[in-house]
Amino acid sequence: MKSIKDVNFAGKKVLLRVDFNVPTDEYRTITDDTRIRESLPTIKKLLSDGASVILIAHMGRPKNGVDPKLSLDHVAQYLGLLLKQQVLFTHDLLGDKVTEMVNAMKPGEIMLLENIRFYEGETKGDVALAEQLAKLGDCYVNDAFGAAHREHSSTAVIARFFPNDKYFGFLMENEIKNLQYLLDKPEHPFTAIIGGSKISSKIDILYNLIPKVDNMIIIGGMRYTFTKAMGGKIGNSIHEDDKLDTALELIKKMDEAGVKYYLPIDCVVVDRFANDANRMITKGDEIPDGWEAVDCGPKSSELFREVILQSKTILWNGPAGVFEMHNFAKGTNNIAKDVAEACGHGAFAAIGGGDSVAAVKQMHLADRMSYVSTGGGAMLEYLEGKQLPGIKAIME
Ligand code: ADP
Ligand code: MG
Repeated sequence: MKSIKDVNFAGKKVLLRVDFNVPTDEYRTITDDTRIRESLPTIKKLLSDGASVILIAHMGRPKNGVDPKLSLDHVAQYLGLLLKQQVLFTHDLLGDKVTEMVNAMKPGEIMLLENIRFYEGETKGDVALAEQLAKLGDCYVNDAFGAAHREHSSTAVIARFFPNDKYFGFLMENEIKNLQYLLDKPEHPFTAIIGGSKISSKIDILYNLIPKVDNMIIIGGMRYTFTKAMGGKIGNSIHEDDKLDTALELIKKMDEAGVKYYLPIDCVVVDRFANDANRMITKGDEIPDGWEAVDCGPKSSELFREVILQSKTILWNGPAGVFEMHNFAKGTNNIAKDVAEACGHGAFAAIGGGDSVAAVKQMHLADRMSYVSTGGGAMLEYLEGKQLPGIKAIME
């Protein structure tokens, strides 16, 4: 691994790609600063070495070039508060002004470039844009795990201009280390808990995990496609008819591999999709017509708890129910509590996926998990066994 740990960056101008794509409210106030805080160790290491740090980041998905609502000006200010030091910033895009500012930077100074997605070339992986960026620095460090699954100018293409001077930041290194551990040499029993809303979005993960795990807990909106395929009654529950064969094939593969799989044995069903709908508990495969399952039931939670507490390695991606609605959050919350408890007993647990991580944070349990990934899509693609462009670009 080309880690920044082993390098002294004194006197260098370092281009550092970070993931500052933080959620903001309607007044552009940052509502969750995790991503900014997570990049501080790398930034501080570079600054204390005596590097000049030029940060590259994006915000949102600007459609036609510059969009003042998606400027990074307030992120520069916010980062300045965290670092207790001025963060240089200009609304100007790459050009004479930016070049002048960068040339004038002294060791230990830091600057944030304006939203890199204001250039249309960024998401197209434009080489000219990457080259223009590359001219600003002596070396390149990528710490943007959340954007590592994109082959963009500033996340991947730029690396080719620094064949001998490209590195992973600490955050990136940590993500890779944890995910690779999970895929390569986990302690057994290894339990994967896979949920969320759609089976089609996570099929590849299931296929990739089957040879590696001992137990598979299939929850959330994923499970009804399986239940229907196996001949159960699912009422109006979310499912994908064109994935019934896939579900059967996955079951066959799990059987062949000796993977024990668990579907919720009971579930919470509602007569309409609303927090205050009429609700009752039914068996997992006997959901009446006109009713729809939105969470797993108490017996399922008990069963899952047993499996989770016996596990040495746990991967959790995807909630057990519609946890955004208070009345249907119990199944998800129980899993979060059980996984945290397992960590307390020495298990290694990794949590990923935007919604799953949100659920864990909502429960204030993030600190009790071994590892919470900062990358939603990036982590999922990694678990699918894909080589992420942002990682490959540094490795090759
Ligand atoms: P993650 O972001 O953790 O990868 P997903 O995006 O795949 O997870 O899925 C999260 C969504 O799944 C949530 O919005 C949740 O409401 C939804 N969901 C979970 N269970 C059900 C269900 N039974 N019916 C409908 N939606 C569900
Ligand atoms: Mg999601």
